[in-house]
This record gives sequence, structure tokens and C-alpha cells, in this order.
Amino acid sequence: MIETLFTKIIRREIPARIEYEDDLCLAFHDVAPQAPIHLLVIPKLPLPSLAAAGPNDAPLLGHLVDVARTIATNLNLKQGYRLVINCGIDGGQSVDHLHIHLLGGRSMQWPPG
Ligand code: AMP
Repeated sequence: MIETLFTKIIRREIPARIEYEDDLCLAFHDVAPQAPIHLLVIPKLPLPSLAAAGPNDAPLLGHLVDVARTIATNLNLKQGYRLVINCGIDGGQSVDHLHIHLLGGRSMQWPPG
């Protein structure tokens, strides 16, 4: 099992602004927000990246997306929002614990950098 700072946030060893928690996942505010709303939705299972997931993880991945959608609804992001999964070095992933970025509260640009 890979230990990251997200594992420590799950265990409450590092403080975080937690928005949501259930048996499978945790959602908390990003420490360096890139939009007025910027949360991370992470599985409690310490999958290092999306590439490390397999077919058996599909229900968990679906749950993470559903939780992100529910949080976006609860935060009243009626104008829309963006979900991002950075995967690996080329994807710009910096923490080796799978996470979905939920970004909202401003108009997003495309293509991303
Ligand atoms: P990524 O670059 O896709 O791996 O995203 C990692 C994210 O974790 C970045 O947006 C960081 O700002 C965020 N992050 C790093 N440390 C913390 C922390 N202690 N609490 C909340 N977010 C963090």
C-alpha cells in the first residue's frame, strides 16, 4: 500500500476542509484552489492512479463521479463545472492517490495547459 498525504487526510493526521465522507470516499477542499470551488474526491482505497484501476474498480469509479456530481449540485454550481483526473507524469499527477478534481465557480478554458 502506498502512503501519501491523502492517506493521512483520510486518517485525520493532516487537517483538511472535509466536505463529504462515506464508507468509500472522502471529498475535501484543495489546499491550492484553481477556481472558486476546487475540491478533491478520493477513494479510501489507496489506488495510486486511474491507470492502476481495473474493471473491478468500475463501481468505485462510478461512485466517485456520482459523489462529485452530488457535491456540485449541493454547492449550487448551476452554470456547470469541470471534473479532472490527472493520470501519471504526462497527465500532471502530483499525488499518487487517485483523485477527481471538482472545479467550479468560474468559466473554464479549453484546451487545458
Ligand atoms: P494532482 O496534481 O492532480 O495530483 O492534484 C493534487 C492536488 O492535491 C493539487 O491540486 C494540490 O493542490 C492538492 N493538495 C496537495 N496537498 C494538499 C493538502 N494537504 N490538502 C488539500 N489538497 C492538497
